[in-house]
Amino acid sequence: MTSHERLTAVIERINAACRAAGRDPRTVHLLAVSKTFPVEAVRALHALGQRAFGENYLQESLDKIAASSGSEIEWHFIGPIQSNKTRPIAEHFSWVHSVDRLKIATRLSEQRPPGLPPLQVCLQVDVSGELTKSGCTAAEAPALGAHIAGLPGLQLRGVMAIPAPTDEPAQQRRQFRAVREVFEAVRRGLPRSAVESFDTLSMGMSGDLEAAIAEGSTLVRVGTALFGARDARP
Ligand SMILES: *Cc1c(COP(=O)(O)O)cnc(C)c1O
Repeated sequence: MTSHERLTAVIERINAACRAAGRDPRTVHLLAVSKTFPVEAVRALHALGQRAFGENYLQESLDKIAASSGSEIEWHFIGPIQSNKTRPIAEHFSWVHSVDRLKIATRLSEQRPPGLPPLQVCLQVDVSGELTKSGCTAAEAPALGAHIAGLPGLQLRGVMAIPAPTDEPAQQRRQFRAVREVFEAVRRGLPRSAVESFDTLSMGMSGDLEAAIAEGSTLVRVGTALFGARDARP
């Protein structure tokens, strides 16, 4: 399949899922996850009108950002964050979906260059209870969200999650519903000034975007269905 055919197919899946859920397709944004794929693949999709791209691995992403400077691409960091790697993330990305502890949020806040718009951040939550995974717990999320919403240089936009993979649609729905409940709990704990911009439920990937949209996702992060299967990371 060509890039154009893949992008069209993904957009059609999003539109169909929105129709099935009675939602306006304009309320669901597509983040193209380009990790492991070369900058040429990013350019090809960008030329077709795709604007937002997600990356997991810092060095790889910085190379791609440098190679595409001057374009209107909006870069989202979605991978695990080590605290000694926050500065380049704060300097080069528009969004970060994987903020899961205060130390990371504080460093991003301090390191966001003052000349740039606030870094748009999502709180990553782990609803599967796999303690080895990234993400704060559902119980920690409201206090953490309220704290992050008060940090300068950041704008808290919502919640991100990567539920345990399953092919079972009912199980996918249950997990995404749990994420939405965390989103609502965090929102209830925010000061009024932070509520309006708290609008992003970042959930759903190539294999489960329909279930995520049915449960309220406003941003699906799609890699494989847009770029093809990934090789194991070199
Ligand atoms: C790789 C990745 C995706 C995309 O997954 P696909 O199954 O290839 O669509 C989405 N979100 C995160 C956080 C990822 O690491």
